[in-house]
Amino acid sequence: MGTRPFRWLPHQGRRHAIPDSMAANDDGQTLCGVAVTMPHDPPPRSPDGCWPTCRDCDQAWRQHEGIPLFPWPREAVDNATTTAARQGARGSGP
Ligand SMILES: [Zn+2]
Repeated sequence: MGTRPFRWLPHQGRRHAIPDSMAANDDGQTLCGVAVTMPHDPPPRSPDGCWPTCRDCDQAWRQHEGIPLFPWPREAVDNATTTAARQGARGSGP
C-alpha cells in the first residue's frame, strides 16, 4: 500500500493533486502548478461533502500513472471551452 506518488489536497475550492512526499508546513506545488503550503491540519470539507476535482491535476496524475483520461460529464465542463479545445486538438493533428 501507499505506492501512489500523489495525494489529493483540498485547496481554494478544488481538490488538487500534490506529491505524497510533502509533509505538514512544506511548501510545494500542485500538479497544475499552484503553489501550496501543506496544512498541518486537514482542510475543512466543503458543505456539499466533496470538493470538485481539479481537472488539470486529474489529467496530470493520469498521464503520470498511465491511466486513460476520464470522460468528463457534459454538465461538468464549460461548453465554449470544450468546443474550442476539441477544435484545437483536431486542428493540431497531422
Ligand atoms: Zn490542480
